[in-house]
Amino acid sequence: MLFAHDTECGLIASAALVNTESAQGEGLPDVAALGAFITAQGWTGRHEQTEAELRSVRELRPRLRRIWYADTDEIVAIVNGLLREAGALPQLIRHDDEPYHLHAVPRDAPLATRMAVEAAMAMADLVRSGELSRLRRCAYPDCDNVLVDLSKNRSRRFCDAGCGNRAAVTAYRARKAAAGS
Ligand SMILES: [Zn+2]
Ligand SMILES: [Zn+2]
Repeated sequence: MLFAHDTECGLIASAALVNTESAQGEGLPDVAALGAFITAQGWTGRHEQTEAELRSVRELRPRLRRIWYADTDEIVAIVNGLLREAGALPQLIRHDDEPYHLHAVPRDAPLATRMAVEAAMAMADLVRSGELSRLRRCAYPDCDNVLVDLSKNRSRRFCDAGCGNRAAVTAYRARKAAAGS
């Protein structure tokens, strides 16, 4: 493990949330889709299942996406802003069979607030350890998904949406075409 467990979870969850907003379509079209997303991502705690909650989660996405495009100083400004707005107060807690980890807002804080703070805390770890280069954008042409490279050799280039396979197929066809000509 490169980073603390909660940091890695926060990074992966942030990228997944950012990637629900893509040129291919809206990944969180309604309240039910948000419910399915947070279940898949392992979110527990307060979940209102309202349009307002859905809206606030959607509104968080462009702010988080910006982190993947920004330089260090801008990332720091975003992270500090998210923590300040949420009134973040880091506390070690234990719940659901997980070992002690940091929460910076209460478990009954609104979902979008908890998502924002979890992302900000994880990004703060990356800044402090000089590892912002782990934040990548998918190398597949026309894919606007983001990813977090948690591999030991920093080799990850493609997002989780199948771009790695697509790139392998394209490369294979190109080799075959070259061999046949
Ligand atoms: Zn927790
Ligand atoms: Zn991709």
